[in-house]
Amino acid sequence: MRRPLIAGNWKMFKTIPETVTTLTQLKKNVADVHHCEIAVCPPFTALAAAWGVLKGTNVHLGAQNCHWEEKGAYTGEVSVAMLADAGCKHVIAGHSERRQYFGETDESVNKRMFAALKGGLIPIVCIGETLQEREKGVTFSVLETQVKKGMAGLDARQSGQIVIAYEPVWAIGTGKTATPQQAEEVHAFIRKLYADIYGSLASENVRVLYGGSVKPENVSELMQQKNIDGGLVGGASLEAETFTKIIKYK
Ligand code: PEP
Repeated sequence: MRRPLIAGNWKMFKTIPETVTTLTQLKKNVADVHHCEIAVCPPFTALAAAWGVLKGTNVHLGAQNCHWEEKGAYTGEVSVAMLADAGCKHVIAGHSERRQYFGETDESVNKRMFAALKGGLIPIVCIGETLQEREKGVTFSVLETQVKKGMAGLDARQSGQIVIAYEPVWAIGTGKTATPQQAEEVHAFIRKLYADIYGSLASENVRVLYGGSVKPENVSELMQQKNIDGGLVGGASLEAETFTKIIKYK
């Protein structure tokens, strides 16, 4: 049985005081939640303060990116050990905004994913097609490449441990959500592809989250789909009350 994960990606939003206020409210709101795992990924500057609020609660801490080297002359980068030290359990790898604006490739996503696993963090590896790719009818081949290259080389244990986030780029921050049927079709494809590469056990265990304008109004139908194991939520995770409604989708 896959345990659902609802993760909030705060992107480049929130100061330290804003983080503390939001998370103090959120942890109270969701203290009674047992049906899913919960994670929040604030910006790097707020991680330590966030951990101060979340330590010992059922809201886990995640980061939005990591570098693959353990340490070194990489100005502006943050290592997995630093994130673990700050209290993180998860780290996002290959978010489409990183692919689009910061030159992230399947190869660099792969290195980040392995660094996270080596350092004991759970990578949330993001994949997804652009609107142009969907309209050209190449959604499945784009996703196949992203999975085959970005997630190449996992061993039997690791292949069940990672989390995949399917985030159609055209649905991120646009208010357009894939219909539950559209999302389920893609999730089923990803799970089948994963089974072909890593076997049926890994494919049964791997969690595939949906991301792209998840809101309180659409979350429960998305979560009813067989192959959707949670959500990666951007804008709607910024407000404690809204994110609470998403977490309490049941
Ligand atoms: C995201 O940032 O991963 C995301 C899905 O954003 P939004 O929910 O705002 O579309």
